[in-house]
Amino acid sequence: MPFAEVIVDIAHSDVDKIFDYACGEGISAGMRVVVPFGNGVTTGFVMRVKEETQVLPDRVKRILRTEDERPALTGEALSLAAALQERYKTPMALVLRLFLPAEMRTGKVSERYRTVIRLVREEEIPARAKRQRELYDFMRANGEADSAFLREMFGAAVKPLLDRGVLAAEKRRVFRDPYRGVEGENTAKKLTPFQQNAVKTVEETKKTVCLLHGVTGSGKTEVYLTLIADALAAGRTAIFLVPEISLTPQMLSQLRARFGSTAAILHSGLSAGERFDEWMRLREGSARIAIGARSAVFAPVENVGVIVIDEEHDGSYSSESSPRYNTFDVAYLRAAGNGCKLVLGSATPSVETYKRAKDGEFELIRLPERINARPMPEVRLVDMRREVRRGNPSPFSATLREKLAECLRKGNQAILFLNRRGYSQTVICRDCGYVATCEHCDVALTYHSEEDCLKCHYCGARYKMPPACPSCGGRHLGYVGTGTQRVVMELKKLYPSARILRMDVDTTRGKEGHFKILKQFADREADILVGTQMVAKGHDFPSVTLVGVLDADMSLHFADYRSGERTFQLVTQVAGRSGRAQEPGEVVLQTYDPDNAILRFAAEYDYEGFYAHEIAMRAAMMFPPYAKIVRVMATGENEAETVEALRSVYEKLQTLYAQRPEEFLFFNRMHSPIKRIQNKYRYQVLMRLTGGGVLKDIYEVCAAEKHKNVLIYVEENPANLS
Ligand code: ADP
Ligand code: ZN
Repeated sequence: MPFAEVIVDIAHSDVDKIFDYACGEGISAGMRVVVPFGNGVTTGFVMRVKEETQVLPDRVKRILRTEDERPALTGEALSLAAALQERYKTPMALVLRLFLPAEMRTGKVSERYRTVIRLVREEEIPARAKRQRELYDFMRANGEADSAFLREMFGAAVKPLLDRGVLAAEKRRVFRDPYRGVEGENTAKKLTPFQQNAVKTVEETKKTVCLLHGVTGSGKTEVYLTLIADALAAGRTAIFLVPEISLTPQMLSQLRARFGSTAAILHSGLSAGERFDEWMRLREGSARIAIGARSAVFAPVENVGVIVIDEEHDGSYSSESSPRYNTFDVAYLRAAGNGCKLVLGSATPSVETYKRAKDGEFELIRLPERINARPMPEVRLVDMRREVRRGNPSPFSATLREKLAECLRKGNQAILFLNRRGYSQTVICRDCGYVATCEHCDVALTYHSEEDCLKCHYCGARYKMPPACPSCGGRHLGYVGTGTQRVVMELKKLYPSARILRMDVDTTRGKEGHFKILKQFADREADILVGTQMVAKGHDFPSVTLVGVLDADMSLHFADYRSGERTFQLVTQVAGRSGRAQEPGEVVLQTYDPDNAILRFAAEYDYEGFYAHEIAMRAAMMFPPYAKIVRVMATGENEAETVEALRSVYEKLQTLYAQRPEEFLFFNRMHSPIKRIQNKYRYQVLMRLTGGGVLKDIYEVCAAEKHKNVLIYVEENPANLS
């Protein structure tokens, strides 16, 4: 009798091991099964089927039943899961869950069927059975029809024919089609020579990873779609990852027009049932392209021919829940395993990615100009300190007001961008633009009101809040951010007839979310779109000729070593929304720091200049990619327990530190800058590593810690250190 190695679907490290069960012939690896466990039953995953077990015959239990007709997890998923478990040391059950739609595990939705009735036997129907004859004739003409429809049309005549075996009913699987009614023209275009070269280079290079560095509007999407079409033509499948926000209505209809139902598009606007069905279509092979945000990297496609990660620099590609995987790492494993290419695309690649490309690890491919050699929009830097001195209290500079008026007069559209996230905590002088930074780390300090002090999130240093600007003595220190709502209000006063749309976290809640707003703007139901980060991403609105960045430097002052990079990316991305069609575009960048090197590079679209500047800073300060920032976090509701758990893990980490000091640039225990979030205390050990093998040991140390009410986890280069 065969035995199955089963991982039970319980996310606890105590049960994170293989259990052997006896099983019948129908069981194979990848299936979900129901097994007796402890005093009850639980579901589990079959990892492997084998002929023998070490478990004593009288102790081995039997699998009760299977949940799947065919394995939910592919062979690739199982081996990938093993690799991820090895990398991140999280319980296998948690890793395996990544590969299944949540709806499948919770059993809240299921497959949907409809009943079809077919004609299976010819028969003489007596003339007096009039309705039956009509039905019979109908079926002879049509062969089959929907059961509900027939019952409505022919009522009681259906049953006798079914009973006599003239007709037969049959259940058929139906897929909910979330894109019914989404139509678009097939926009396949003849590739430009640059695009052709890009496709050719990807397909011919020996390297697994290609970085497609193309300015905004250079036609990267067309390159991806060609690569995907080529993969399909070769009988393979494809994975296309985009930041959630890029799945705009325009993008959906373009994909739909190009690939029809071959593409399964997973995004947050789908209902649970729709998502489940899209996943199922991929698993069964009727859809062969998986398109979606981060989690689509786990799509159940087999024989993958290409994987694309668009906007590779985007922060949404790192997971913030356990296991804290990095999408690139997973995609890379899949690409290597399938012998296919992994294509990263961006106008503003992350510094780490670009370095790897320049060092020759990745193939670097450029799309140096916009389609039809359209010019990049001209960027004007406006000094907001002067506006303050002139007594202009509004969020708009004189230049921006002038340009807005002109844009509206010409009947074009404008986008105004502002960024508030995290800003209120940074201290800036409105007179001179001074920002409080850490003496040791050169990142902006964060103000903590509960302790009335400034803190560095990288070294824990604390500073007193200065009473006046240390640089100019000015007294206008503090928070200068402006909310989207206020901007809209001011705009309405200035341009009463303009139609204005607001897009931020408040207006994009709900199932439709940002879709509706973007669609309205694309359909030209508004003249001005005001928004936060969300408006920066890859939208293509041909009528936009003006982009205003209300506070360009605020993201420079995030308390984060990547803030320079983020600012450059953000400015380039928003600027890229302007002037995408015939009319040339313009960009107004409002700043308190007009001499800032990063903003200057962004204004000139000088990625190389930016990169040289940034990488030198990273090398000097020993920040990634020259080091790895690792945080071990302990969180729990009880402070004493949390402190105790951290102390325990800290001691073991300290042993590692003592054994291999050369691998540590920094090692410190502290409570997190924000001591409590959502009722959970947060204590951490912060480390900066040279990139040696000690990281693996850190994961192991943390995985071995067992505390009842305290969660311990490891983060690598976390996006946010608060
Ligand atoms: P990116 O993603 O690099 O910012 P897009 O893929 O959005 O650029 O392309 C910019 C615009 O150029 C789009 O409107 C797209 O339809 C158009 N485009 C792309 N490739 C071609 C081509 N080969 N010929 C004509 N137009 C193209
Ligand atoms: Zn510091």
